[in-house]
Amino acid sequence: MTKPDSLPQTSKSNQAGKQCLSSLPDFVQQALIILQQAGFEAFIVGGCVRDLLMGHQPKDWDITTNARPTDILAALPDSKYKNSFGTVIWPIYLTDSTEVLEITTYRSESDYDDHRHPSEIIFEDKLENDLSRRDFTINAMAMNQNGDIIDYYGGQKDLQQGIIRTVGEPADRFKEDALRLLRAVRFSNRFNFIIEPKTERAMIKLAGSIKFIANERIRDELIKILAGPQPYEGIKKLHETKLLQYILPELEEGDGVAQNHHHIYTVFDHNLLSLKHCPSQDYLVRLAALLHDVGKPRAKKTINGQTTFYNHEYISAKLTQKIMTRLRFSNQEINRVVNLVRNHMFYYNVGEVTEASVRRLIAKTGEQNLADLIDLRIADRLGSGTAKAKPYKLRHLEYMFDKVRHDPVSVKMLKINGTDLMQKFGLEPGPQIGAILDVILADVINNPQLNEREVLLKLAQPLINLNLAELRQRAKTVIAEERSLEDQQLRQQHRV
Ligand code: ATP
Ligand code: MG
Repeated sequence: MTKPDSLPQTSKSNQAGKQCLSSLPDFVQQALIILQQAGFEAFIVGGCVRDLLMGHQPKDWDITTNARPTDILAALPDSKYKNSFGTVIWPIYLTDSTEVLEITTYRSESDYDDHRHPSEIIFEDKLENDLSRRDFTINAMAMNQNGDIIDYYGGQKDLQQGIIRTVGEPADRFKEDALRLLRAVRFSNRFNFIIEPKTERAMIKLAGSIKFIANERIRDELIKILAGPQPYEGIKKLHETKLLQYILPELEEGDGVAQNHHHIYTVFDHNLLSLKHCPSQDYLVRLAALLHDVGKPRAKKTINGQTTFYNHEYISAKLTQKIMTRLRFSNQEINRVVNLVRNHMFYYNVGEVTEASVRRLIAKTGEQNLADLIDLRIADRLGSGTAKAKPYKLRHLEYMFDKVRHDPVSVKMLKINGTDLMQKFGLEPGPQIGAILDVILADVINNPQLNEREVLLKLAQPLINLNLAELRQRAKTVIAEERSLEDQQLRQQHRV
């Protein structure tokens, strides 16, 4: 065990540690004691010490020790290797959950379980060497089972003052691992801490090195910022530290791009402010708010002396797809966000928009996405500086959604299916079946009362002799007639 006289702690810091002891679960304390009784040093370390000192409940517990992996395995029954970097995990079966402790030998090469493969792991004998490789002072503290805090880098003081500061020379530390650039923004954002000026200057200078970081890892950091308590401030910080231009260059295209006289903000500011005002906690809806107008700079045109952004929602949807694919979001996540961005321009006005057109909106967007679409509209409105979040119009739209909610809006909801068509008309399976159903659906959306088996079969009768191209054309015409009408209203309303 580290001798008390070698601990760089004040009695005050000791007190803070003692106060944390009551939050230390028995199984963690147990692991520390077992390792010590086996003749080794053992401390909890990193994020969990930081969280304890802040009075937060740590979400996981990391233990660091001078015991080598084989010693750890021998000391802790049922423990096993987690990976090839010598990290050992020790599962603890509690009555209602299973906790997993991670125990790592002091080391100077990092293994953060992040798909990086350090060329070599160097085990260390001194705790200090392990702490010195950690990123920020507040993340570089250790605590033993007595509540003694080991703090070589002023982590407690920075914690009290709310400062993110690298351990050691900032530029060196960011050059070692550029992911720390994003971690600095994330922690400062999450805890509402400032980034120490020298650390921030190094970040700005080295921002470009973020390109060496795998897109998956950038995505994970971005998600954490978006899901955090103040995503707007986080994205703004990425902008200020020059990181955003490498992560979301398409968004930066809107910087300084003025809109027309209906908007007081630039495209960039409006996108960010929409994120700020997004009522949803869901990081994907928040991402949709951030990107909903990302295509505006590319859609900007001057027609008869008027600035317009015709079709910007489609360009924004395309760009959103590109961005999210690059950042390796899953297809499911991409589809959700792209769908919201593409449909964010829906027009609604009481008395003016028919139930059929609300049904068409539902058909396009998907019933399960309507609440998100409303949230996006609220974000968009508040992000333009428009005072009311839920004007009468939007509340009325929600009422309309409820009203038409059970009306047929997809082929699945029709009272006939492909098998019915095949049996009744002796048709072969093939794309023609789906195309007939699409034409019928377009009619049923206009008039849900048609959704009766016999009626639908009658509607199908004249369609069975049409070929695929003709059928597709038919479905399109029914939808397109309505669409152009809606588009016209929409453009007038939004002057885009
Ligand atoms: P969170 O609560 O978000 O998990 P955390 O501080 O526990 O925060 P982790 O990513 O779980 O963060 O990492 C655990 C510890 O490992 C950190 O506290 C820090 O000491 C160290 N660490 C993690 N990533 C890095 C890195 N890229 N560079 C240096 N040290 C790191
Ligand atoms: Mg952690």
